[in-house]
Amino acid sequence: MIERPPTLPEIARAVKPGSRGAKLLAVLERLDKSQWWSGEALREHQFRQLGELLAHAARTVPFYHQRFETAKVDAAGPMGPDVWRKIPLLTRRDIQKAGNSLRSRKVPAGHGRLGVAQTSGSTGMPVKLNTTERTRFLWNAFMIRDHLWHRRVFGEKYAAIRKFPSHVASYPKGKHAKSWSPAIGGLFGSGPAAGLGIDASVKQQAEWLGREDPVYLQTYPSNLRHLAVYCERHGIELARLAEVITFGELFDPETREICRRVWNVPVTDMYSSEEVGYIALQCPDHAHYHVQAENVLVEILDDGGEPSAPGEIGKVVVTHLHNYASPFIRYDIGDFAEVGEDCACGRRLPVLRSILGRTRNMLQTPSGDRYWPFFGARTFTEIAPILQHQFVQKTADVIEGRLVAERALTEHEEERLRRHILSRLPYPFKLVFTYHDEIPRSAGGKYEDFISEIAG
Ligand SMILES: [Zn+2]
Repeated sequence: MIERPPTLPEIARAVKPGSRGAKLLAVLERLDKSQWWSGEALREHQFRQLGELLAHAARTVPFYHQRFETAKVDAAGPMGPDVWRKIPLLTRRDIQKAGNSLRSRKVPAGHGRLGVAQTSGSTGMPVKLNTTERTRFLWNAFMIRDHLWHRRVFGEKYAAIRKFPSHVASYPKGKHAKSWSPAIGGLFGSGPAAGLGIDASVKQQAEWLGREDPVYLQTYPSNLRHLAVYCERHGIELARLAEVITFGELFDPETREICRRVWNVPVTDMYSSEEVGYIALQCPDHAHYHVQAENVLVEILDDGGEPSAPGEIGKVVVTHLHNYASPFIRYDIGDFAEVGEDCACGRRLPVLRSILGRTRNMLQTPSGDRYWPFFGARTFTEIAPILQHQFVQKTADVIEGRLVAERALTEHEEERLRRHILSRLPYPFKLVFTYHDEIPRSAGGKYEDFISEIAG
């Protein structure tokens, strides 16, 4: 183990030939080269892969067989931007309606065992899909690319405050591991890791961090903000902290200033999702993001479906190049992003200047404690035919649950839903359900699953 960031050749020397780490190393070495490819070479490479993905989807995914036929898309012919743009966007509602018809009937053997991924429902419409060994493997490869880009010292302590499976990383102890992750451990020695569930209050998080004293901290931007301000007010110092890594929601640049002021550390953000993994990573030299073009095709489109130009904001449409189990083709992920100019770092991976529309607020209990709210949305559909939800904290002790459902819920279903939600919240709020045809986005195009009307 070394006390500075490892280089790829150093990692290569540490990896046993023929091991799982060796396979990962081979991908990292390819990514190390492709980040310097020209924009043209990247696009060519992407469209070759998209052509294969489309042909596979037409052959083995009933939903796409139908969709390509209706849209008159020749999935077996030559693939280029003109053919591509004839494909209708895939919405969350499409995915919910399509169910199993969006899954491949025949995943090529080389893609390995299937797994399941599910969005947390932060958009109000949870999405479930199949992953493969290949997609999970690539997830790890891009995670390590992020560490290498940002020159992290693998021997140091890494702490994460995020969502963990229930009770795995509860306060006061949290969870501990020898290595940052099994994938990194198999590749190169890495330092200890600690994790704390995001259901801990900000006060508890700060106390835990003081005890753990990590070099790296990973958490959600809105949580980070409250945490930094709390530490500042209460004189809690994190002497060894060198960098904060954020993910999972809208990143407000002001958070960077706060962390600089309170801890004198930089913040590195990333843009990822359960559905497609890493979408964009922050440039090693700048505050903007590079699309992970070897993993996903990202299109930023205006209201008319035309590509947005640098400086313009458009909707984010993604296609995972490698998921052959649940191909999401031109998937409208529900975010908005601003297109950036080519980056001065020399990488031609497309630039996103900022990502918008992933915002959440925090819940406040009548005693003033703040929490990241979780409503147990993953299992809503097991209770009643709910399509979309949004929660609004109206007063110190009243929460409105806005629901879009296929039909009105029975009294019994409402009662089960209420009990389920209240079991996830830190205080016995009064929960009032209201029914809607649709829950619209905010003026800025954002959808929030939780809005606090008393935040401040
Ligand atoms: Zn760059």
